[in-house]
This record gives sequence, C-alpha cells and structure tokens, in this order.
Amino acid sequence: MATLFVSDLHLCPERPRTCRIFLEFLSGPARQAEALYILGDLFEYWAGDDDLDDPFNAGICAALRALSDTGVAVFFMAGNRDFLAGDAFARAAGLTRLPDPALIDLAGAATLLMHGDTLCTDDVDYQRFRAEARSPAWQQALLALPLAERKAHIEAMRRQSEAQKRIKPIEIVDVNPDAVLRSQTFHQWRRLIHGHTHRPAQHRLHIGGHACERWVLPDWHDTGAYLACDAGGCRLLDWPA
Ligand code: MN
Repeated sequence: MATLFVSDLHLCPERPRTCRIFLEFLSGPARQAEALYILGDLFEYWAGDDDLDDPFNAGICAALRALSDTGVAVFFMAGNRDFLAGDAFARAAGLTRLPDPALIDLAGAATLLMHGDTLCTDDVDYQRFRAEARSPAWQQALLALPLAERKAHIEAMRRQSEAQKRIKPIEIVDVNPDAVLRSQTFHQWRRLIHGHTHRPAQHRLHIGGHACERWVLPDWHDTGAYLACDAGGCRLLDWPA
C-alpha cells in the first residue's frame, strides 16, 4: 500500500473542475492508500474555523472525513493560504494536523515534509510577512474581525501578494539551495517532499556523502497529480490518470 502526497489544490467555488477531480481522487486512489498527506494550500484561502458552515467548506470537509472513516490516515500541514485552519477544521475533516516541517519515517527513509514556503528565503518581504502572520497576536487580531470583514481583508492581502509575485524575479520565489542544505543538515533527511513553488520535479542531490532526493509537488488546475511512495520509492502520478 502506498502513501500519497498532494498540495496546492487551491480549492474554491470558482474552480469547480479542480474540486470535482479532487473529490474523485478522494473516492478513488486515496481509498487504496495507507495514508494521505495534504501539504498545504488545500484551500485558496481559509478565513477561520467559524467558516466551517459554508456549504463549500462543509462539502470538502465531509469528503475528507468520508475518506478517513474508511481507515485511511489523513494528515494536513497548513500552507500560506490556509494556515488559519485549526482544530475544529481538523475534527470536521477527520484528519490530523502536522507542524511544518514534519519528519516522518517513510518505508525506512527519513522523509521531511514541508509546505515549501520556508525554503524561499530569498523572498525577504514574504518571510517578513510570514513571521508576522504566524504570530498568535496577529492571528488573534485577524480572527477577532467579523467573518465577512476578515474575508475582505484576506482578499485584499491576496491581491497584493499576487501583484507582487508578478514583478518578482522567478529565482526569488523559488527555493534557496542553501535553505535546502541547511534543512538536510538539521533533520538528516534522505527525502524531502514539499509544494508551494508550483514547479513539480524530482531533484536528485548528494549531500554529505548521501544520495538524497527533493520532490516538488504540482499545483492542481484542470488536472492534478499526486506523489505515491512505497518501499520501492516515489513517483508522481497524473490525476485524472
Ligand atoms: Mn503555497
């Protein structure tokens, strides 16, 4: 049985096809898996767990819950779009939240899981924002706003970040190789799996005399893909197949 990894689905009502193929994935290949790891940006944005009643959010959570009810272990690591997803979300979706990074043993290989944004250390503006947005004080202030006002605020932040991303050089918004090396030295991983950059790839690395690999998960649009890992290794599989 394989362990599956996805990220960067950016689910929202405006992307009905992405939602449909994700739901088909949950009732398809994910049912045959030992575990499913969602490595961030499952949602285009998550305004707070008080938005669980929204029919769209409730539908996605129910589908995740249906998967975990069949005995598949489902894990969720927050991305930069859905870091406000909390315990109530985890309960509704029947999943276990993971910190970023999280080191797991994957068929005997030390495997580090990340969303990926913390590796983009050249994007100084973003790292400054991230540090602020992950502070309890910042989150409490945002969550104290009424839901509608909070959504408008998040919309404005997203528009600003999209505009900035368009003018930033491509290497600024990709991972920094030294940040990858530092994480390997610290965690001694043999395999790193992350998303965020939307540059799907398998990078083979030699670090400290060890053969290592860095898998980058793709984002989902009209089609998606997932990483399937077992004792034989990992492969990126298109979805729909
Ligand atoms: Mn991201």
